[in-house]
Amino acid sequence: MPQFYTEPKVTVLSRPDFAEPGHLPVQWMGESTGGEKLAEFAGRLCYMSQKNPASRTTRDYLENIKKQGHGSVLEHANYSLLFEGVSRSLTHELVRHRAGFAYSQLSQRYVDESDAAFVVPPAIIGDDALTAAWKAQIESAQATYIALVEKLMERYKWVDDKVHRRKMAREAARGVLPNSTETKIVVTANARAWRTMLELRSSEGAEFEIRRLAIVALRTLQKEAPAFFSDFEVYMAADRVEAGRISYHKV
Ligand SMILES: Cc1cc2nc3c(=O)[nH]c(=O)nc-3n(C[C@H](O)[C@H](O)[C@H](O)COP(=O)(O)OP(=O)(O)OC[C@H]3O[C@@H](n4cnc5c(N)ncnc54)[C@H](O)[C@@H]3O)c2cc1C
Repeated sequence: MPQFYTEPKVTVLSRPDFAEPGHLPVQWMGESTGGEKLAEFAGRLCYMSQKNPASRTTRDYLENIKKQGHGSVLEHANYSLLFEGVSRSLTHELVRHRAGFAYSQLSQRYVDESDAAFVVPPAIIGDDALTAAWKAQIESAQATYIALVEKLMERYKWVDDKVHRRKMAREAARGVLPNSTETKIVVTANARAWRTMLELRSSEGAEFEIRRLAIVALRTLQKEAPAFFSDFEVYMAADRVEAGRISYHKV
């Protein structure tokens, strides 16, 4: 029996560690994290306003940056997240987000998928008949994958390099694996790019699985850097699934 995921797992891999230069000290006010400080430092450098003449807290300062649409300073702060328990169809949509993003995803050519896990499409969770029909198809696809790999290894046994032979077998056999096959992906993006992606993918128009992931990622990033994501609101949409909306569109 393969493992079945019914929710994604999101782990923070990296966050900015701001190293303040001693010769340009900022008059900091209020609570902040490394990424928020980095963005404020970058913004203040433009006008050499390190003395903080308006006595703004970091979070008020960044609120104003978003309101004014000066989002380029948010590009300095990068966050890397590990997404697990997500489907190949989700990552196919995710990697369309290009500007400011970097990706590294599990390779189905190199990694044996005989024990792959699968992601239950959110819309069928809780319906036993739909889940049973879906699982039957998944299990059959995985059995075919295993049989194909075995037969292809035999067919190409004249290829001496075993790593290459396995790759030949797996890259052909993966054709029968469904979109629901679980994958893992490291995603790095700057705060401005995350905002754009999260706005699009937490919206009511987004596909359910990526929308669910966007909400989890949003909550994770809101803890990391509240000022960058404080204008997002999560609400229960008419389809009874959480969705997100934003106050400052495309800063
Ligand atoms: C609900 C939904 C449904 C979708 N349905 C489909 C679909 O059916 N088929 C499909 O193919 N895709 C679909 N997409 C994907 C969509 O078309 C975009 O590829 C995806 O949302 C990434 O958006 P983006 O290009 O703005 O992002 P990014 O690539 O991250 O770009 C961010 C911004 O940077 C600027 N930019 C980036 N690259 C360029 C460039 N080369 N030239 C000029 N400006 C640039 C633009 O302002 C852009 O908005 C869908 C997306 C959503 C959210």
